[in-house]
Amino acid sequence: MAAHSEQAKHRLYLEHALGQGQVIDLSRDHAHYLFNVLRLSVGQRVAVFDGQNGEWQAEIVTSGKRGGTLRCLTQSAPQRMPPDLWLLFAPIKKARTDFIVEKATELGAARILPVQTDFTNSERIRQDRLQAHAVEAAEQCGGTYVPQVADLQPLSRLLDGWDTSRALIFADETLRDTPAPALPPAPAAIVIGPEGGFSASERDRLRSMAGVTPVSLGPRILRADTAAVAALTLWQAAQGDWE
Ligand code: SAH
Repeated sequence: MAAHSEQAKHRLYLEHALGQGQVIDLSRDHAHYLFNVLRLSVGQRVAVFDGQNGEWQAEIVTSGKRGGTLRCLTQSAPQRMPPDLWLLFAPIKKARTDFIVEKATELGAARILPVQTDFTNSERIRQDRLQAHAVEAAEQCGGTYVPQVADLQPLSRLLDGWDTSRALIFADETLRDTPAPALPPAPAAIVIGPEGGFSASERDRLRSMAGVTPVSLGPRILRADTAAVAALTLWQAAQGDWE
């Protein structure tokens, strides 16, 4: 049995504003997870965050089969917002799409936008499942922010309404043999294509838009999931929230 004064080992994202002394009713799923899966009991602690008010140590006040309550005791980490960096990517196979959402969350993307491109293989995504992956990734990586995962939308429509003050970093696989570019600062968005790459008309359109930086990610062709991780990491190294 864990001592009550221990720092919580488990972290939960709650859709409920947190603050000193705040009492939170647990959903059925969270109650199941805490009491049946983790076998925690009244008096034990969990770390909780709501995406806006940092991380809190919370104590289990009541526990039941279908519910329970937590009380926030002390703030254990301040809120940290990621830099204003979006990831636009064309969904690929399910496991690889899940991977992209998970890694984008860990690497500090502020928003994740699945886009349908000319050569996108998948017609639809399960936005709720992908959002749940982002929540899980934030819970396990110690983040205090959960990026919003948008619904699938056509890239062309997104570009129609694009605010050009947000720099668009276009990972263009045809530029493989060019030097590493200087990446623009936030607000920015990275765009990664599907397995089939971008069509000629998409490439022309992107290259002709104001505020677009076409970039090479090195001399080899990366899979889309690798390309997403590489581009996010390069941007974070150059412009991001490393202190
Ligand atoms: N089928 C394409 C490759 C697609 S790779 C071909 O054979 O050319 C999937 C996506 O990852 C690309 O659309 C691009 O956005 C990104 N990507 C992969 N390797 C890259 C590289 N070396 N430089 C820039 N972008 C790259």
